[in-house]
Amino acid sequence: MKFETKAIHLGEEPNLEAGGYGDAVMAIHLTTTFARKQVDVPTQGYEYSRSGNPTRDALEKRLAGLENAKFALAFASGLAAETNLILSLLKPGDHVLAFDDLYGGTRRLFNRVFRERFGIQFSYVDARNIEMMKLSIKKETKLIWLETPTNPLLKICDIQAIAEIASEKQIIVVVDNTFLSPYFQKPLDLGADISLHSTTKYMNGHSDSVGGCLMLNNQTFYEKLKFTQNAVGAILSPFDSYMILRGTKTLAIRMKQHEANALKISQFLEKHSKITKVIYPGLESHPEHHLATRQMSGFGGMISFELNAPLNETKQFVERLKYPLIAESLGGVESLVEIPALMTHASIPKEERAKIGLSDNLVRLSVGIENVEDLIEDLEQALDKV
Ligand code: PLP
Repeated sequence: MKFETKAIHLGEEPNLEAGGYGDAVMAIHLTTTFARKQVDVPTQGYEYSRSGNPTRDALEKRLAGLENAKFALAFASGLAAETNLILSLLKPGDHVLAFDDLYGGTRRLFNRVFRERFGIQFSYVDARNIEMMKLSIKKETKLIWLETPTNPLLKICDIQAIAEIASEKQIIVVVDNTFLSPYFQKPLDLGADISLHSTTKYMNGHSDSVGGCLMLNNQTFYEKLKFTQNAVGAILSPFDSYMILRGTKTLAIRMKQHEANALKISQFLEKHSKITKVIYPGLESHPEHHLATRQMSGFGGMISFELNAPLNETKQFVERLKYPLIAESLGGVESLVEIPALMTHASIPKEERAKIGLSDNLVRLSVGIENVEDLIEDLEQALDKV
């Protein structure tokens, strides 16, 4: 079955047997608990919705299929998925080697919760530098944490090369695949052990559900993750599970349009005299453009850029835009714009941001699927006044 077909049918096969109604879409099983006939026989294996729920199970089946994985688990948010992963696979004293440009909330979780409170070690390295990655592995290193492309600088690292180094040393490789969605990148096919998403973004695609997921092939890891999920309770609700089932049906066509729009906008920005820098993996000027072409099947819908103007003028430019909403998050059908240093990445200290090249006036644009001519016209009028 090809991607688009899986995204519509997997997990949502109608029940045409006696007792089924033939629903074309999955029912939202709001029930918290499941009645049974016999005391020791749960009905179709279901006991209590924290441990298992048919709507969530349907979604997990779909999610696994989209990344060619055996297993998937759905969580209450992307950060809940990350927390569950660390709680399941690490213990105090273990070391995580992470890409130095990560979503701000992921770094906050690592540093302020797991390092300060639970004694897990983290070091941050530019994962584009394979030699540096090798040198940074310690005997306590249990996990390599990658985000590619990164948020917000869209740096791209070589998943396959890093997975090869990691497997020699039995280190688990996690890839946050939120920025591309499984439509454009499948980390497990490239040798990663676990793929992670904030389903809040492209998977849902309509800015109306917060969630997260993990996809993987290793049964032992899956059992540990599933145990922790039930023990900790960080599950995705039945309603949100339905929302992601619905969202994934249009993932392929949405991603194609996000990419087509982003490519045109990045080319427009690159030629504009008031723009000093445009970062988009689809541009030949992107430092990892060739790796992106090999590793990803598309370049996604995220663009970061800098204006030839100080921060206050950059803020005014953003505030003059008519269509993109000034908002955190990304991956919705509507364009969203933000200044990471003041919004999504404000929790990272300024010196840390400077070290990785995140300037105060960098603008991040999550390109929506509006008409691209309207979006370009809007950017043009806002830039004219800079
Ligand atoms: N990973 C990436 C790349 C993100 O951009 C985000 C949120 O912005 C997360 C993880 C966290 O996801 P959530 O907000 O669903 O907890």
